[in-house]
Amino acid sequence: MSKADSSDLDALVNKMKSAASPLRTVLRELYDKYLPLRDGKVADYIPELAKADPGSFGITVVTKDGQVFSAGDVKQQFTIQSISKPFVFGLALEMHGRDYVLSKVGVEPTGEAFNAIVLDETSNRPFNPMVNSGAVATADLIEGKDFPERVSRLIAMFSRYCGRPVYVDNTVFMSERATGHRNRAIGHLMLNFGMVRDRIEESLELYFQQCSMMVNCHDLAVMGATLANGGVNPVTGERALEQQYVKYLLSIMLSCGMYDYAGEWAYRVGIPSKSGVAGGIVAVVPGVAGIGIYSPPLDAKGNSVRGIKVFEELSERFGLHAFETGFTGPSFLDQFKPARTS
Ligand code: GLN
Repeated sequence: MSKADSSDLDALVNKMKSAASPLRTVLRELYDKYLPLRDGKVADYIPELAKADPGSFGITVVTKDGQVFSAGDVKQQFTIQSISKPFVFGLALEMHGRDYVLSKVGVEPTGEAFNAIVLDETSNRPFNPMVNSGAVATADLIEGKDFPERVSRLIAMFSRYCGRPVYVDNTVFMSERATGHRNRAIGHLMLNFGMVRDRIEESLELYFQQCSMMVNCHDLAVMGATLANGGVNPVTGERALEQQYVKYLLSIMLSCGMYDYAGEWAYRVGIPSKSGVAGGIVAVVPGVAGIGIYSPPLDAKGNSVRGIKVFEELSERFGLHAFETGFTGPSFLDQFKPARTS
């Protein structure tokens, strides 16, 4: 049997297993329960985001061995936005190593909004890579012989995580760039302090490009599963991130991934996650699975309203909180197995 045939067969076996698994029912239940929720507001700072359908809703779980479970609109494409931040941070770690990156971008939560104009002037760096200042400084660390090479390295990295070629939506990119005055101000402020190099205009362009990468809910789950699996994409078998760096991405996602709700999220949900303004959330249950959610209406802090609800419930029901001890409820792992018929 050729390699392609055997991976087709694996995919088929996984599909059959997941069709008979309790998790499929669980996700359907969560979808039906939270679809009628009408709270929140779709981001409208650029026209492309304002066009999103507030009723669009998808949930996907991909296990570390590549099984896929989903409910809802999991193929609907949207821009990755801030969800790109931990992944670009991972690439910066691979290019420069932990200590150099830490000298340029801190790892302390700010408790402030993602686009706050705050910098750690004592240590002369932005607070963390999940807020815009830190993300722009992180983009500045992405090397390449010229701008096109820097962009193509980012695209190649996202493609490895998603297991398919991803692309930048040019219309969103042009809008992000045309309206990104605040990010530009943050970039120039960092340049003033010597926190970034004087190619800041180019690094801002790179940041706008990374935010405009198109993904769907299924992609987010595969990206999460790649981190859950130590950096290897479980669907393609390709490595997307050196294993030694996975824990740094996850710890920052847990402490800073959900904007100024990150502390409460770590307390209540306890799953390393990252949200984006288009309504996506990626979450990682280390060693187990990645979870992707898409639902565009956002709460006041910028997190997907339905997304928060689904994660709160999943965490409670299956004891997914990172610091859970002695959970006596149903095991999440058991939800992947085919249900017994007798
Ligand atoms: N493009 C947005 C910005 O930089 C992305 C932020 C987000 O997803 N919160 O403002």
